[in-house]
Amino acid sequence: ESLINRIAAGEIIHRPASALKELLENSLDAGATAIRVTVKDGGLKLLQIQDNGCGIRQSDLPILAERFTTSKLSTFSDLSKLTTYGFRGEALASISHVAHLSVVTKTKTSACAHKAHYSDGKLVPAQPGQSEEPKPCAGNDGTTITIENLFFNTPTRLSALRNTSDEYARILDVLTKYAIHNAKVSFSCKKAGSSSPDLSTPSASTTRQAIKMLYGHSIEKDLLQATVNESANNSKVWSSEVYFTSANYQAKKMIFLLFINSRLVESSRIKRAIENVYSGILPKGAAPFVYLSIKIDPRSVDVNVHPTKKEVHFLDEEEITTQICDSLQAKIAEGSH
Ligand code: ADP
Ligand code: MG
Repeated sequence: ESLINRIAAGEIIHRPASALKELLENSLDAGATAIRVTVKDGGLKLLQIQDNGCGIRQSDLPILAERFTTSKLSTFSDLSKLTTYGFRGEALASISHVAHLSVVTKTKTSACAHKAHYSDGKLVPAQPGQSEEPKPCAGNDGTTITIENLFFNTPTRLSALRNTSDEYARILDVLTKYAIHNAKVSFSCKKAGSSSPDLSTPSASTTRQAIKMLYGHSIEKDLLQATVNESANNSKVWSSEVYFTSANYQAKKMIFLLFINSRLVESSRIKRAIENVYSGILPKGAAPFVYLSIKIDPRSVDVNVHPTKKEVHFLDEEEITTQICDSLQAKIAEGSH
């Protein structure tokens, strides 16, 4: 049974960066305004994320890492109305099957923090022979999740992830993208033992400031912005916000950030459509920066698609993509006069 769980967990947690993505989404769901990440050996030895969000109630700790434990669904029909990132309650459970997981958390109303350790979905003692009961400890409001020895029990997976600097680069990439999308939240990331962070953003930035800080002045100075949306009966059916570079900006490789309902996703169809817009504008071999955030009725997104499928699909995808691309095209043409 534990082998099956381990395999299932590997479908959700592919590598340190995918664990980080889940943890980031949990912290953002919890309303965090500051998120600190600490990494050792590309996240394989240690991946720790500290937030100042709402915390987890002590009474919820025993079942936290059980599959389908989620505070984000109260009834089955809620599935169709989800607006938060998480909905399956599988992330922490999965992580506990392929790593040593521990949690320190405190809600505003709790007198102190509590620390709990998990393995294979269940509470376990910190040391053999001790009780598995979460222990009171000192701690600020919020949650710190610590993942150690990721994939220690799946040697094949582990040996496929030998390049720790590549894993660290992926962690920084995910973090950078979430920092753009959540410009008001402050993020930092550092290697364990290092005093200077490799990524650090202040709180309360604008999207434009965040892009400048994380992707550089050369992008920011050629950055255009568009808001494209569709409304019916006085209410918005969908809306999108795009930051994209003008014809003056020419990178070697396209930087494309796509968020749908605030979740970082991939869509080769949307990417290709945007590449097409630029292929008529940029010289051969030149590529743009594009950050696109789409908000749609959660009922129209295929949220229940298996987590291994990175590609997202949603209703009216083609029409929405066309409208966004038309708007980009017009703005870029306008900007080059
Ligand atoms: P999901 O996000 O799909 O609900 P997870 O396994 O990612 O499932 O998390 C399980 C539950 O643990 C969440 O529903 C939430 O109640 C709680 N949780 C996890 N991380 C945090 C956090 N950083 N702050 C507050 N609560 C959290
Ligand atoms: Mg989650």
